[in-house]
Amino acid sequence: MNTPSPGPHSPEPPAPGSAELFGGQEFANLLGDCVHCGFCLPTCPTYVLWGEEMDSPRGRIHLMDQHAKGEPLSGPMVEHFDRCLGCMACVTSCPSGVQYDRLIEMTRAEVERGHPRPLRERAVRELVFRLFPYRRRLRALRGPLRAYQRSGLEGAVRRSGLLERISPSLAAMERLAPPLGRAPRLPERVAARGDRRATVGMLAGCVQGEFFPDVNAATARVLAMEGCDVAIPRAQGCCGALSMHAGREDEARAFAKRTIETFESTDVVVVNSAGCGSSMKEYRALLGGDPAWERRADALSERTRDLAEFLAELGPRAERRPLPVTVAYHDACHLSHAQGVRSQPRALLAGIPGLDVREITDPDICCGSAGTYNLLQPEAAAELGDRKAANVAATGAELLVAANPGCTMQIAGALRRRGAGIAIAHTAQVLDASLRGLGRDALIGRSS
Ligand code: SF4
Ligand code: SF4
Repeated sequence: MNTPSPGPHSPEPPAPGSAELFGGQEFANLLGDCVHCGFCLPTCPTYVLWGEEMDSPRGRIHLMDQHAKGEPLSGPMVEHFDRCLGCMACVTSCPSGVQYDRLIEMTRAEVERGHPRPLRERAVRELVFRLFPYRRRLRALRGPLRAYQRSGLEGAVRRSGLLERISPSLAAMERLAPPLGRAPRLPERVAARGDRRATVGMLAGCVQGEFFPDVNAATARVLAMEGCDVAIPRAQGCCGALSMHAGREDEARAFAKRTIETFESTDVVVVNSAGCGSSMKEYRALLGGDPAWERRADALSERTRDLAEFLAELGPRAERRPLPVTVAYHDACHLSHAQGVRSQPRALLAGIPGLDVREITDPDICCGSAGTYNLLQPEAAAELGDRKAANVAATGAELLVAANPGCTMQIAGALRRRGAGIAIAHTAQVLDASLRGLGRDALIGRSS
């Protein structure tokens, strides 16, 4: 797109009260915070990939400003917004405190309201958003998908390129699906071992619950072994993360309200999926201005904790048994950039005797998962996945530890592509193996 670079003298933010504004005064104020310094550019994955100003945070803010001043949404403009991963690396690197996360969410909602997408794109989006936030639908898919994986047809289907020709997004879905085993149901309550130190609610998640049931089982066990009564309500549904980050505001609000009702009576809600935790901490922004829900949303955001964050606050009590494994820890964007949770998982891992934690080069650059990004923008996502996999392999670690199901699927796929035999586990599974004394084979026996 030949949109001019904003440069140092980019137009002023829209005038307060301007008729063309979308997002009202809040949007104008958020836009006005950007001083166009460019400090965010080197941390932006799409700018790193393509070196295009309009695929940088500063360029996208310039496009938002143009639209807010009346320029209609065009196809190329929307494409630059769509290519943003929403990874928030620009938020943490911005010295002026620009809330790009709010800006892109409001822009995406505007795109959903006002920009008709081509039929094929609409069909893919409908498929994604009518499937992934619904646990029952995902559960119904498990059987056929498991049968397909066990049939040995995967290789033939991939070699044929059939799915790629129908839709690259469909092909990405097939490639990213993790190997599925049995999925035992969790009980609604898991009792604390020994003296009870806390009572917590646990979010099971949609993709986490159906595609990674072992992670949820490990999470509940670790919490119980650390002295927590764990409630896992069956009535819970999607937290709304995917819808929220895609600008599907009404859908996101409906999911958020149900989640608030489900966990209203719990002191703390523990979340083991970075994307879900960050969304629940954003409920206050999502439902702000709604008098019936604002206070309740704020209260739930306040009580939401990522698993590592919660365990670090609680402090260790259960005995850690040795695990002589070399691990690389991956910062999920929605954990590090969105929630500021970086030191806690590292400290938990470092507390396990024998465990050697290695850092991955460019930890702030997204792996390309980003919610539904690897389905909707499969080519850019694959490039980012390959970069991340190369950096993971360079650590020489035997095990990659990540705390987000999207990152796990994305990096596992990229590691498979390069033939790297590195196993993957969630922080909860590593802790679980140590607390139960399972030994290293329980972890590095997993294939990526
Ligand atoms: S978003 Fe922040 S870091 Fe990026 S150009 Fe604007 S002020 Fe600078
Ligand atoms: S959210 Fe990520 S991809 Fe989007 S502009 Fe910011 S750094 Fe770039």
